[in-house]
Amino acid sequence: MTYRGRFAPSPTGPLHSGSLVSALASWLDARAHGGTWLVRIEDIDGPRTVPGAAEDILTTLDRFGMHADEPPVWQSRRFARYQTAFEQLKAAGLLYPCGCTRKEIADSLLHMHARNTTLAYPGTCRNGLHGKPARAWRLRVPDGDAAVITFEDRWQGKQTQNLATEVGDFVLRRADDQWAYQLAVVVDDTDAGITHIVRGADLMDSTARQIYLQRCLGVPTPEYLHVPVVTNDQGEKLSKQNGATALDHAKPLEALSAAARHLGLEMSGDKHVTLEGFYAAATTAWAERMGVRVQPN
Ligand code: GLU
Repeated sequence: MTYRGRFAPSPTGPLHSGSLVSALASWLDARAHGGTWLVRIEDIDGPRTVPGAAEDILTTLDRFGMHADEPPVWQSRRFARYQTAFEQLKAAGLLYPCGCTRKEIADSLLHMHARNTTLAYPGTCRNGLHGKPARAWRLRVPDGDAAVITFEDRWQGKQTQNLATEVGDFVLRRADDQWAYQLAVVVDDTDAGITHIVRGADLMDSTARQIYLQRCLGVPTPEYLHVPVVTNDQGEKLSKQNGATALDHAKPLEALSAAARHLGLEMSGDKHVTLEGFYAAATTAWAERMGVRVQPN
């Protein structure tokens, strides 16, 4: 098997102990499979991108001994590919323009409160804009049984989501003219030939949408593995906004050992003095935990 995995950070701040867990898990899975590990900078969201953060993340990965096997991919340089995929979906009649504002969607959901317990888009613009100007473009999701997407997550087990009732037709081109994450990630993973996606469980909720998009585009679905996210004292996903601090470049082993503990890895020889020693033990422990037969690189 040709294994191709990736770590896809958004450059909204430096790498911290939470994002390090995703980086490490994806790196270990690629190494255990004797595969290729790539890095993609998800700088698609112009307003959220912090200048210098991408370079900072790449330096940290390097200092921590996680070297990508190919040059990093930058989403901001790939807009033409997103446009092509968008045109393909549009030509297939799967997209429609939507004129709803956030407030209008919230109001109509409130209105439908009795039968709606989720935030699924109610499909207001499915059959026309009703005189409103187009703001975003949405992908039509199927009704009935076809809306149910099921997949086997390698860490969390069987997952099921009903796109029609839990998500609704979702945005691929945003009202602020930005490409949506869901489209970019599917196009990028496909173009990079990614076979295995390892990332934080906060993205579990997006996976059914991405699998549906892969089907619409006629491209393969990779394997998925979502690792538990690191939380702060309030139980929120650790992020720069709620107290995560940048990793100390001088102490990679401390941070890596903490990340390995978070992943439940039982490491032989608890004090590792070199990065090589740490990675060798962590790869073995990961392979055991995930039932991967270790392949030479
Ligand atoms: N850029 C996303 C994040 O940092 C990860 C996307 C992915 O792994 O699919 O949360």
